[in-house]
Amino acid sequence: MHRDRLIVAVDGPAGAGKGSVCRAVAQHFDMAYLDTGAIYRALALTASRHGLEQPEQLAQCAASLPFAFVLTDAATACYTAFLDGEDVTRSLRDESVGQLASSLSAIPAIRTALLGFQRSYGGGQDTVLDGRDVGTVVFPEAQLKIFLTADLASRAKRRALELQSRGEHVILDEIQRCMAGRDARDAARSHAPLAIAVDAVVIDTTCLTLEQSTTRVMGEVERILAIRDGGDPST
Ligand code: C5P
Repeated sequence: MHRDRLIVAVDGPAGAGKGSVCRAVAQHFDMAYLDTGAIYRALALTASRHGLEQPEQLAQCAASLPFAFVLTDAATACYTAFLDGEDVTRSLRDESVGQLASSLSAIPAIRTALLGFQRSYGGGQDTVLDGRDVGTVVFPEAQLKIFLTADLASRAKRRALELQSRGEHVILDEIQRCMAGRDARDAARSHAPLAIAVDAVVIDTTCLTLEQSTTRVMGEVERILAIRDGGDPST
């Protein structure tokens, strides 16, 4: 019997914990996972390395971006981002790359050029994707949409801890200021802004641990799987 693959679309602002939650969900349910922000970041890294500035040039580059997002260690749910075969996972996390990604992602032709990659990712496998417009634009028909959010101070604190754990020097106020700027730009753009899909389940993780956030999302996935597989979702 043919059944559609399950798409779990997880959107939300920067630092809401989307990546960590989605990796755990994908690992638990044996689904493919795509961090769509990594694609925008890979484009930003390419643009800054090659000095690309013109929207047409950038859209062309986006359409044939030699980007791959690969599960490199299933046991630890570790994914590696490759750009033309080079491991760029770490470079993509730089704040400057995130800021440029946010500016470039407001260009409609770039967003359109990146749709095909996102929609075909995972082939026929059940797939969880996180980003800003996965549930609203990339997969408006997704069976499960989650909007993961948290207040700005907690999100900035989590990002600071993440950077510190990588041995980086952090200034919390600066992180919070950059994050607020990026959120405002992502939410204000005219094309595919950061927005809550009407049928999304909103989960505020401000007072939740990572484990609690993951458990909440897994509960939603189990509910949808039970419906798809014909069971009773209430049991
Ligand atoms: O999720 P992450 O912080 O890595 O995303 C970097 C930037 O890429 C975001 O600030 C946003 O501007 C852009 N982005 C987007 N649409 C997505 C994912 C990311 O516009 N689906």
